[in-house]
Amino acid sequence: MLNTNSDILRRVVQADLNLQPRSSACWTAQLLSAFQGLRGCELYVRAVQTGHAITMQEFTADSKHRMRGVWRDAELVDPNTHNNKLATYHSWFAIPFSRNERMPINVPWYLHLDLSKNVMRNASRFRLRVHTLKVEAAAWLEDGSCVCDQCPDEDEHVQNEVHALLICQDHRIGELRKHFSFLFTPFLEDFSAAQPFLLRQVNNQLVHDFLSQQNNTHFLFFF
Ligand SMILES: [Zn+2]
Repeated sequence: MLNTNSDILRRVVQADLNLQPRSSACWTAQLLSAFQGLRGCELYVRAVQTGHAITMQEFTADSKHRMRGVWRDAELVDPNTHNNKLATYHSWFAIPFSRNERMPINVPWYLHLDLSKNVMRNASRFRLRVHTLKVEAAAWLEDGSCVCDQCPDEDEHVQNEVHALLICQDHRIGELRKHFSFLFTPFLEDFSAAQPFLLRQVNNQLVHDFLSQQNNTHFLFFF
């Protein structure tokens, strides 16, 4: 904007720049604070203060790197051992970024389907851990327990998304799994009609693959 043809605009921007050391509410101060966390933060701050141009290509790449930092942190947390929504989403549900720099975001499969609003809402709630499974409900209740109350007493399993989908021994879920067995058998060789639940933990990649299967009917099982 310092290179603008408008003399008034140039003077307004310059005045705002001069105001910045004394006011955190001015436009320049807010712009400078938005640079925090970028790898080239100091460079961008200096460029704004001195009225020099910022290379947009570098700035865009830097912004993307900062935005993706939230997922790099989530990568270090295992949702099987930590009750962490971000890590859960990242490990089990998230769609990897596309290599296409212009369109790096892939939309989840279910958003392309002609589902009712109700199913769409439930799918989103499940993926984002905004549901009533024990792992989430416990956070809102005093003395809340994450342990599944549908499994045999001697087994103490955290009732999370993977437990509900693959491990829980509740007979109603078992019947549902048997009905939709074609969703399970390609991924789980130890799944059977006689034992429609797993007796083992499943690695995060397998959970992700199972949940990402592009089968239009799997929402009938989930929701
Ligand atoms: Zn259970």
